[in-house]
Amino acid sequence: MIWYPYQQMKTMKEPYKIVDAEGVYLYTEDGHKLVDSIASWWCMIHGYKFSCLNKVIKEQVDNFSHIMLGGLTHDPVQKLAEKLRQLLPGDLDYCFFSDSGSVAVEVSLKMALQYYMNRGETQRTMVMSLTHSYHGDTFKAMEVGDDEDYHFVLNAYGKSPNVVHVPTEIPALEEAFEKYHDKLNCFIVEPLLQGAGGMRMYDISFLKRARELCDKYDVLLIFDEVATGFGRTGNRFVADLVLPDIIVLGKALTGGYIGHAVTVANHKVYNGFYDDNPEHALMHGPTFMGNPLACRVALKSIEVFERENYMALVYNIEETMRYAMEGYSHPLIKEVRIMGACICIEVYDPEVLNGYQEFAYERGVFARPFLNYLYAMVPYIIEEKELMLILDTMKAWFETKV
Ligand SMILES: *Cc1c(COP(=O)(O)O)cnc(C)c1O
Repeated sequence: MIWYPYQQMKTMKEPYKIVDAEGVYLYTEDGHKLVDSIASWWCMIHGYKFSCLNKVIKEQVDNFSHIMLGGLTHDPVQKLAEKLRQLLPGDLDYCFFSDSGSVAVEVSLKMALQYYMNRGETQRTMVMSLTHSYHGDTFKAMEVGDDEDYHFVLNAYGKSPNVVHVPTEIPALEEAFEKYHDKLNCFIVEPLLQGAGGMRMYDISFLKRARELCDKYDVLLIFDEVATGFGRTGNRFVADLVLPDIIVLGKALTGGYIGHAVTVANHKVYNGFYDDNPEHALMHGPTFMGNPLACRVALKSIEVFERENYMALVYNIEETMRYAMEGYSHPLIKEVRIMGACICIEVYDPEVLNGYQEFAYERGVFARPFLNYLYAMVPYIIEEKELMLILDTMKAWFETKV
């Protein structure tokens, strides 16, 4: 039996069974063809069955599928690290690979803590993060996050004394730094777009101020770009606008083909570990880190992302969404938000979205609204008519609710 994610198994409706997928389309067992409006949890930027990714992965299988990085190395991981070094801004040069976004976040938090422990600054045990933040499902990631789904953890352990949450408002940020700076090792954020916390969008000025305060108080700035990396916000990386000390990438890193992630540190962080003391080594090492299949597919994905100018695709998606939603309002809708290749319609009452998934299914769209949020995070290769189908389906739903 499969235990499905985020589901009350007792009341869960049957999931749609997918038998084939190509481009933006999912094909169901009962003969429906659905535009995947959320790109399989935001990662399938090239769509499904993308021939050049299929090709490299098959090639690599015939060479070797996996080799650990403990005492061994290989070409695909070396090439990917070098590619990321070139691709990422500033001196974000040191790549620590892992198998999922949550683990890569754990690694970044461990790096930040150990960076200060290695320097003997043992009072720096606290992490600052955003209200409504989501950083993954593992324990430290849950603690640093602020997702209501995990409140059973709060009930079990009480609020962590090692985490402080701030809203995305500069005065609150300044106040929190004033109060906690000598205990903080890092400030971790989902930059510009908070995904699982409700597709919340905020201004770059907040991150610019955060960078200044982190510099002033010598606190590490971590960007969790697991969701925002590779173009989602309309920027290649938000790190192109404000440079963090550590960036975490996942989801679209492999074009959605295989779970893989990376935590990339700058020289300052790396040098905090680099000395003659073996106890100052970073103590982490997932079995499947730097998996060659994942590295090959990531390299090819990045090559296509650059060569085919995917940022232009993202701009076109944003333009189309803005044009289609211009002046659109409905009494049940609180706000329509658009950023890059992401749109979110927030409603006042979550009940309003009950039944939307089936409604969209009948019209040829796969959607998965949650809480008060009806959203789309489309594959970048989507065509205008397919995007319009998603947006028209959203509007049609509200027309049934007059
Ligand atoms: C999805 C996500 C994660 C977790 O990644 P997994 O690969 O699901 O473990 C972490 N941070 C952010 C911002 C995410 O969107």
